[in-house]
Amino acid sequence: PQPNPQVGAAVKAADRAHVFHSWSAQELIDPLAVAGAEGSYFWDYDGNRYLDFTSGLVYTNIGYQHPKVVAAIQEQAATMTTFAPAFAVEARSEAARLIAERTPGDLDKIFFTNGGADAVEHATRMARLHTGRPKVLAAYRSYHGGTQQAINLTGDPRRWASDTGTAGVVHFWAPYLYRSRFYAETEQQECERALQHLEDTIVFEGPQTVAAIILETVPGTAGIMIPPPGYLAGVRALCDKYGIVFVLDEVMAGFGRTGEWFAADLFDVVPDLMTFAKGVNSGYVPLGGVAISGQIAETFAKRPYPGGLTYSGHPLACAAAVATINVMAEEGVVEHAANLGAQVIEPGLRAIAERHPSVGEVRGVGMFWALELVKDRETREPLVPYNATGEANAPMAAFGAAAKKNGLWPFINMNRTHVVPPCNVTETEAKEGLAALDAALSVADEHVR
Ligand code: PLP
Repeated sequence: PQPNPQVGAAVKAADRAHVFHSWSAQELIDPLAVAGAEGSYFWDYDGNRYLDFTSGLVYTNIGYQHPKVVAAIQEQAATMTTFAPAFAVEARSEAARLIAERTPGDLDKIFFTNGGADAVEHATRMARLHTGRPKVLAAYRSYHGGTQQAINLTGDPRRWASDTGTAGVVHFWAPYLYRSRFYAETEQQECERALQHLEDTIVFEGPQTVAAIILETVPGTAGIMIPPPGYLAGVRALCDKYGIVFVLDEVMAGFGRTGEWFAADLFDVVPDLMTFAKGVNSGYVPLGGVAISGQIAETFAKRPYPGGLTYSGHPLACAAAVATINVMAEEGVVEHAANLGAQVIEPGLRAIAERHPSVGEVRGVGMFWALELVKDRETREPLVPYNATGEANAPMAAFGAAAKKNGLWPFINMNRTHVVPPCNVTETEAKEGLAALDAALSVADEHVR
C-alpha cells in the first residue's frame, strides 16, 4: 500500500483529541497510527512495516485478516448479524460444539462472554455459588483482566489502584524457579515447596471458606513461567482434598499458543472451570467464555444461574470462532506452533542468549516465549526495577526502540521481552524476527554491569 502521511496525521490527531487509552497517562503516550495489517505484519501511514511479535495483545493466533475468517464474518453479517442470547442460533451452537470438543475432560458446557475479564468474573461467581464459600485464591505474578473482580485477582501492579472491596481475594506464590520464593534449586523442590505453601494458605484461610483457586495454566503477561512437572496435578489434588473448584485461566495460553489446543493438555490436568478468549477467534470480534464441568453445570440445571450478558454468544463473534477453529484444524496451526517453537524459536533464542549477556533466562513452549533481561547474570538483578517508569525504565525503552527500528514490534513487560508471534508465523518470518531481536539486544547489553 502507498504511504499516506496526511491520513495518518488525521487519524493520530482525532485519536489524541478523543480516544481515552487503557492503562495510560493520556498525555504521555504516542500511539502509532496503523494503516493496515495482514498475516504476521502491520504497517503505518509512513511506509514502515513491522513484524508483529506480540500478536496484538497475544491474541491474533492465526495472524491478521485470514481470508477464510474474514469471509465467514462477512457471510454471518449478511445473514444474521446479531440475535439475543436466549435463542438457539447456528453460529453460537456450532462454536460451543467445536470448543467443547476440544476442552479437556467433561468441560462440555460453554458460557459465552465478551472477553477474558468477564469470563473470569463468571467463573469465580459460578465457583462461589457452587460451593457456597466466599474466597478465591489467586497467584502473585498473574493477570486475569481489568474488571473489578478480575483486577483484584490479578497479581501485578495494575491491581493496586483498584484494591478496594477485595473481600474474598487471597494471593499466594506460584512456582518460579528463576526467582524462587522457596529457596529452591531444582524444579522438583520448587514444585513441592510451592504446593506446600499453597496448602498452608488453604489451611490458614480455612478450607471451608475457599471456593476456588484460579491459575493461568502458563502465566502469560507475568512472564511465561512454565509450571514444573507435577505442580498443576498437585493443585488439582489439593482442590479435590478440600472441595475447592479449580479454575484454569486459558485466555492467553489457550487455542494453540503453547502448541496444544489448551495448555492444560500439556500437563494432563482437567480443571472444573476454564476461561478462554483471545485466540478463540483470533480476536477478530470480541469473544470469551467459560467452559463448565458436568458437576458445576448440574448446580445450575434446576436453579437459575444469576448472570448474563446482552451479547453472550454474539453470532458475529461465534461465526468468527467457528471459522478460526476450522482454519486452525485444517491448516495444522496447533502442530505448527509446537514444531516451529521446538525447532526454530527455542534454538534461535538459546543461541541469542549465548551472544547477549543481558539475557538471564529463556523459557517457554510453542509460540509462547519470554526472555528475562538482567544487569548481571550471576545476581539476576533485573535490567530495570519492578514496575519501573520513566528514566528507571530507559534500558527497556531503548531496547524496544531498537527493535522497532529493525522492523520488529516487540512485546515488553517490565524487564522481559516475550516472543509471541502468531501461531502460524512462517519459518522465514520467525527467523527474520529473531535476527531483529538479536540486533536489538545489543542495546540492552550496554546496560549490563
Ligand atoms: N486472563 C488472562 C490470562 C489474560 O492474559 C487476559 C488478557 O490479557 C485476561 C484474562 C483478560 O482478558 P480481556 O482483556 O479480554 O478482558
